[in-house]
Amino acid sequence: MQSLGIFKEPANESRVSVIPDTVKRITQNLNMEVWVEEGAGVRAGFTNKAYEEAGAKIVSNSNIFKNSEGLLSINHLYRGEEVEDGKSFIGIYNLMYHRQRISTYQKSNLSVFSLDMVPRTTKAQSMDVLSSMASLSGYKAVIKSAELYGSVLPMFTTAAGTLKPAKVLVLGAGVAGLQAIATAKRLGAIVEAFDVRRAAGEEVRSLGAKFIEVPGYTENTSAGGYAVEQSPEYLKKQKELIHEHISNASIVISTANIPGRKAPLLIEQASVECMQPGSVIVDLASEQGGNCALTQDERMIEHNGVKIIGSSYLAKEMPMASSQMLSANYFSFIKHLKQQNGNAANDPILQGCKVIENGELIHPAFIKNLT
Ligand code: NAD
Repeated sequence: MQSLGIFKEPANESRVSVIPDTVKRITQNLNMEVWVEEGAGVRAGFTNKAYEEAGAKIVSNSNIFKNSEGLLSINHLYRGEEVEDGKSFIGIYNLMYHRQRISTYQKSNLSVFSLDMVPRTTKAQSMDVLSSMASLSGYKAVIKSAELYGSVLPMFTTAAGTLKPAKVLVLGAGVAGLQAIATAKRLGAIVEAFDVRRAAGEEVRSLGAKFIEVPGYTENTSAGGYAVEQSPEYLKKQKELIHEHISNASIVISTANIPGRKAPLLIEQASVECMQPGSVIVDLASEQGGNCALTQDERMIEHNGVKIIGSSYLAKEMPMASSQMLSANYFSFIKHLKQQNGNAANDPILQGCKVIENGELIHPAFIKNLT
């Protein structure tokens, strides 16, 4: 692959897949040509001029298709436009959740790499777009809830009296949850967190938060360090424990997910109703169905004075930071792709995320599920 094209994302997306600094690294270190669709970086704070100075050429959308071998975007943008054989689409297409997208790519002789499927191994860490976005979302969830919450996060001692610190409850202490804990602690809140993985407890405590566990629980470690779906008995006990702790919490950040499954329901309506009016819930698992029974994806609702935000994409609200992180992930991936000559045969990273090869659906996860 000798040339890359960077698409402008749709109107509801302010991030860009590759920023000018990375264009410079691609042209200089990887010796590739870069074509950027006019205005691609503007909403993230990167001008056409900055791209040109970094070595890219600014062109129209149709010229991106024509000039580039690697077609880069964040979102699924391809609508079946004419493309020459042998081109590769690289993006975060979320094909496990949006399976209908697959057939669009099967019409031509092209290949598709979906970066959300890069295996989460040590070797692939620098390409892990999910961790980059989860980390920023965890941070933003706290900032957003602090803004909406009617009081302060740290203890406030003034001549007019003392305001108590806020209690923050974090459900799911993975990448997003740990960043939420760290941010809430930095802002002076008292933080408690739940996770089904015992290993998360050590990380939670090292950030100065309290780890809450369901008593008498034997961890299911069959997924090699990842969470698995819990038994109905466990979930019942966990919900009761969450109900106890939530009544004292002013802010709840929920991030609990199980890879490839619907998110576990952890907060029932009755638990929301025992929170003080003015409290805030940010449900980062909303795209996967949400951890709270009242969550509505991509919306903020209010129930008994409690604000509930359903958003799995808070990183989008910081387009500069998220584009910078994504761009570094895309660079690592392109570099690896070049080193492997695009050949997935003996490479676990490419095998994990190459969904279509020359128009043919090759990823076992989809083939297994489609038959
Ligand atoms: P995720 O977004 O799939 O889930 C978030 C958290 O929810 C996880 O910690 C999970 O254990 C937890 N959870 C699931 N069900 C729950 C329930 N009923 N109650 C409470 N919590 C529940 O996960 P993630 O943040 O993407 O990552 C999770 C794990 O993967 C972590 O161990 C992380 O360190 C690891 N990881 C490894 C790498 C790597 O090695 N490159 C990269 C990223 C993540």
